[in-house]
Amino acid sequence: MLESRSIQCLIERFLMSDAEPRRDGRLPLLIVGGFLGAGKTTWLRHQLHEGRFGRVHLIVNEAAQTPVDNLLLERADSIDVIAGGCACCDGREHLLKSLREFCERQAAAVDLGSQTLVLETSGLADPGKIAGAIARDPILARRLFLHRTIVLVDALHACELLQSEALAWCQVEVADEIIITKAIDVPVLERSRVAATLRQISPSSQISFADFGVAADLSTDPLALPYPIIARSAQEGQIRPYRLNVSGAGGWVSLSAWLSAVLEARGDSIVRVKGVVRTPAGRLLLQSVRREVQPPEILPESKIGGGTVPDDDLIVLIGRNIDQQRLEASWRRFGLGC
Ligand SMILES: [Zn+2]
Repeated sequence: MLESRSIQCLIERFLMSDAEPRRDGRLPLLIVGGFLGAGKTTWLRHQLHEGRFGRVHLIVNEAAQTPVDNLLLERADSIDVIAGGCACCDGREHLLKSLREFCERQAAAVDLGSQTLVLETSGLADPGKIAGAIARDPILARRLFLHRTIVLVDALHACELLQSEALAWCQVEVADEIIITKAIDVPVLERSRVAATLRQISPSSQISFADFGVAADLSTDPLALPYPIIARSAQEGQIRPYRLNVSGAGGWVSLSAWLSAVLEARGDSIVRVKGVVRTPAGRLLLQSVRREVQPPEILPESKIGGGTVPDDDLIVLIGRNIDQQRLEASWRRFGLGC
């Protein structure tokens, strides 16, 4: 039996590392995604009002040429608007340029203080593609780190969208945190089943509710079953976490080479990889979103674990149709040379 609860705790600890600049000066990037109409702007406006992310440079992406909510403009410390193209595809270059310019301004101005970059994606964006584009950009990879991907899902339309739109599924799969909106008037059983369905697609994400942007403590039935919209997962296998102990590894280089090889071969079935690996340089946080390995980052010693035997040298792969024994055997052959 997979220790899903302990994996959940482990992943939550990875994610709880706060959105502060790293010692190497890289700035945190938070991606806020979700399908059209999920309530991204309403939620974000409230978070900015509450100061949840501290000082914020906001980038708003609108796939169409539409004006940006004035209230958003008031709440962020600075804002860029990318209109007329979606940042995961036809607006990608525009996004990368905007991020590079922000990084340059930040590097040039000593008194700007630290800021969190928040990207509100268009409703048609796949956050995984955006994370990949940033990880591949040699300048941005040195200046930013992906802190968290938050995806909003409208309770009223979740099942219909997940059934019909592969994109909605992709958005949920890569989320670190899922916020279910418009659920307050949805009967308990129904919203419980929506939550169970999202949990099945994205077993490692934190799931909560919000009403008009405000966190809502809505009850759910933990025994509720997911909706049978598993057309895709029935064909392709259910997504679940797999845990791998990589202690005794031949160092970071062999681990990253092994991971690249695994993602190259099985990237379609691995959605996320997260883990902390101890190296002579310190504890490295390793992350990938789909095939893209994010640049590793050195964590402060105190941030994660904190116990006598922290969860170092443990990585979690989230994906489907992975044979645990073959995964371990592959790692032993490659990483340990046995
Ligand atoms: Zn796109």
